[in-house]
Formats: sequence, C-alpha cells, structure tokens
Amino acid sequence: MPEEPRILMVEDERTIADAVALNLRDEGFAVTTALRGDDGLRLATAESWDLVILDLMLPGVDGRDICRAIRKRSSVPILMITARAREMDKVLGLELGADDYLTKPFGMLELIARVKALLRRSRTSGSQADADRDEVYAGAGVVLNVSRHVVTVDEQPVELRPKEFELLRVLLSNRGRVIMRDRLLELVWGEDEYLDRGTLDVHIRWLRQKIEKTPSEPVRILTVRGLGYKFTDQ
Ligand code: CA
Repeated sequence: MPEEPRILMVEDERTIADAVALNLRDEGFAVTTALRGDDGLRLATAESWDLVILDLMLPGVDGRDICRAIRKRSSVPILMITARAREMDKVLGLELGADDYLTKPFGMLELIARVKALLRRSRTSGSQADADRDEVYAGAGVVLNVSRHVVTVDEQPVELRPKEFELLRVLLSNRGRVIMRDRLLELVWGEDEYLDRGTLDVHIRWLRQKIEKTPSEPVRILTVRGLGYKFTDQ
C-alpha cells in the first residue's frame, strides 16, 4: 500500500474545515487543518504535501499570498476555495498558480472528485515524464527537453508550471498543425468532467507571457479562430 496522500487544508470556517477533513479522511487521505492564514503559510512552506486546499479569505495571511508563496518553491497541486462567485476571482485563483478552484457552497462529492482528479493529474505528469525520456522538441527558437524537464527560448531558460509544460509539449510536438480545443483539453488535462473550458485559454495566455516577445502579438503560439491553437512551423 502506498502511503496516504497528505493534504493541507487552510480554512477559517471551522464547520467547513471539519466537514472537509472528515470526508477526506474517510476517503483515505491524511488531512492537516489550519484555521488561520499565517499558520497555513507556515505549514505549507515548512512541510511537503501532496495537495493543498486553500480558502481565499483568511485571517492573518490571505489565500492569495499563501498560494504565491507555495508556487515560488513547489508545483504541489493547489485547490482554491472562494465564497465569491465572480468569474474574475476564479481566474485570479488560476493566475496565482492554483490548479483548480471551487466556489462556496460546494458539495463534498464534488470536492472529493476534484481532489482525486488533481492527485491523479500530478501523478500522471510524473510518470509520463519518466516514459518520455530523451524526448526533445524544438521550433521557432523554443526547445523543450522532456527528460530534463527544461525549456529554453532563444537559449534562455524559462520556468514553466507542469500544465504549461505539458501544453507546450503537445503544441510543439504537433507544430504546424492546428489542434482543436477539445483535443488539447483532453491531451493535457485528461477526462476531467469538472474542468472549466476557460482553463485552456488562461494557460495559453500564461505560456505566451513566457515564450513570446510580445504576448499580445504572438508569433509562436497562434490562435486559429473557432478551432484551436497551433505552434508555428516557421
Ligand atoms: Ca474564509
């Protein structure tokens, strides 16, 4: 039996924190709860976790700052929770480096499904990297080395998060070909029924910010209106 996945949950509403912890423990996860942002930040950076669940509004240090602090050092999956339903907040959660988000109130079954999907994805991207040893893709000044998990743009190293790396790998290995949106979602995120379709566009935007000279006028990753995206073969 592999060890139980370790989950850190930072949530100041005790009834929610208790209910989530109870349900996740029933599913075989080891759950540690922090009721304050500052405690959560300490735990998040002092120990290693398989997944972090972060409420946005917290006393002490807020969820955004904790998310940023975690992302500086780790690619651990982060599930953000927010009481605000506005779309901007959701996107903001993703822009901070969170992998997924849930809006309060949420059902326990949905939370558990999200947690399992995130853990499955982070495990798959690891084993995929092992299987793809010595795979290198290049085009338009971008070189992506799958085995070393390194990307350079015009000889300069660029830091990509796991999903950005995977997205670039798919685009670059199919350069010159249009890849349909649904196909990209399937290839990079798998069959996650809860995935927001906007996630793809957000990740494309981040990738462009990292590999394009002028992200608003991309010359490497092109939008093919109504269809999807392609990496240029120039
Ligand atoms: Ca809160």
